[in-house]
Amino acid sequence: MAEVTLHNISKSFGGLTVLPDLNLTVPDGSFTVLVGPSGCGKSTLLRIISGLEMPSGGSVRIGGTDVTFEEPSKRGISMVFQSYALYPHMTVAQNIDFGLRLAKVPAAERKARVTEAARILALEDYLDRKPSQLSGGQRQRVAIGRSIVRQPQVFLFDEPLSNLDAALRTQMRVELAQLHQSLDATMIYVTHDQVEAMTLADQIVVMKAGRIEQVGAPMDVYDRPQTAFVAGFIGSPR
Ligand code: ADP
Ligand code: MG
Repeated sequence: MAEVTLHNISKSFGGLTVLPDLNLTVPDGSFTVLVGPSGCGKSTLLRIISGLEMPSGGSVRIGGTDVTFEEPSKRGISMVFQSYALYPHMTVAQNIDFGLRLAKVPAAERKARVTEAARILALEDYLDRKPSQLSGGQRQRVAIGRSIVRQPQVFLFDEPLSNLDAALRTQMRVELAQLHQSLDATMIYVTHDQVEAMTLADQIVVMKAGRIEQVGAPMDVYDRPQTAFVAGFIGSPR
């Protein structure tokens, strides 16, 4: 597990300032959800935490270590995207195993980790199938399985359920909450879906135009919105 701290993070693309100056602490072991309208900078922030994007200024600490200039693979994080990016020609087991093979983890250890991930994600009966033979929810589980086997300290999710239909989204929400409990890891989860944010988060971060409007427990934010934007976005009674 690891705390993630962002200190004075800024990001500009050419003349466009996406994140002016952002400070945030993601507590060790929390399920922190970043929520806000499309284009407010959520993915950019996640990419900065993961190291896929360099901030223009400021620092990123994971587990107390400054990783601002550390390459993604050395940060102890794993990112799950909305498009699952599975390898179509590989089986489920091979897809889950792929990163471990690259990292040259010994074969017996790899097999044990793939088996454990499949158990957690209820994929035991699908290990020999190809992605094309799976449902959307099963594919998304395989994508999560690829993260789990790496045993990251921090999981980053960028709208992982947005390609799924409503019923499946609800089911996967429950599964993600269970996953958080069983893995005991820090999770940072991005969504533009308020309901998803409210049901998954133990800490919710409401963003607007690259700035944090409010941070708190979901019910706090709902009951005591600090700005009209937060009240409107979360749907607080007024
Ligand atoms: P969100 O994930 O909240 O929808 P993003 O972080 O994807 O928002 O984008 C925030 C803003 O930054 C948008 O205006 C987007 O167009 C811009 N942006 C993101 N990535 C780039 C990039 N590589 N180059 C230029 N502009 C970008
Ligand atoms: Mg995004």
